[in-house]
Amino acid sequence: MALIVQKYGGSSVADADSIKRVARRVVETVRAGNHVAVVVSAMGDTTDELIDQAVSIDSNPPARELDMLMTAGERISMSLLAMAIHALGERAHSFTGQQAGFYTDARYGAAHIRAVRPERVSQALLDDQVAIVAGFQGINSLGDATTLGRGGSDTSAVALAVALGADLCEIYTDVDGVFTADPRIVPTARKIPRLSYEEMLEMAASGAKVLALRCVEYAQRFGMPLHVRSSFSHNPGTMVVGN
Ligand code: ADP
Ligand code: ASP
Ligand code: MG
Repeated sequence: MALIVQKYGGSSVADADSIKRVARRVVETVRAGNHVAVVVSAMGDTTDELIDQAVSIDSNPPARELDMLMTAGERISMSLLAMAIHALGERAHSFTGQQAGFYTDARYGAAHIRAVRPERVSQALLDDQVAIVAGFQGINSLGDATTLGRGGSDTSAVALAVALGADLCEIYTDVDGVFTADPRIVPTARKIPRLSYEEMLEMAASGAKVLALRCVEYAQRFGMPLHVRSSFSHNPGTMVVGN
């Protein structure tokens, strides 16, 4: 029995039907005999919409309040996904970053993960539940909500996978893997079946937003294998691994 962390990005959970589709995929993985912890992003453009709302009220919102607001996006998707899994007959339990034990420094909007102590997530997994964790968020030493920077759910997923000692971290997105260039801009771009952490770091640093830079750095530091793939197909994606 493997322990798999699956991360679903905003494009994979954009509406209720997409959440149901993701729930089916999670349940499929569970019924194949795996323990599954899921990290989820906010639905579609929710984070952008929350920022727009904030700025329409205060053109220079306090960073603490902006983080408090932004973390709400992932709370919506995590609880809806837990319900969708429940509706398929499996047990699921959702956790905020705080409940999942994500401790960060105090840099609102760009916090760094200091420690992950996912006791409640481990307990849920031991109890044969699907654990669903809100990506992109943690708490600082004051107990206030922090966010990890845009695209930060990728980093949450790898950090959780490392803390749980998972066998694999799957990053589900809206393209079939990592391509030689952004496939939405360059139609002749080709999918790359396997990349080293170094190669992926170079691509992330030069703007391939399919994986957040810090997520790749974290995976490299702890040797966590990543599988970047589409939540819209069962095609194999890109493995990002050590040499
Ligand atoms: P998610 O919502 O799953 O986090 P993102 O929008 O953050 O998804 O990242 C996926 C997007 O990254 C793709 O839709 C694609 O347009 C873009 N992208 C940019 N460069 C690449 C690349 N080299 N390979 C694959 N996708 C890329
Ligand atoms: N919802 C956050 C963002 O839009 C985090 C993420 O999607 O990874 O940046
Ligand atoms: Mg992303």
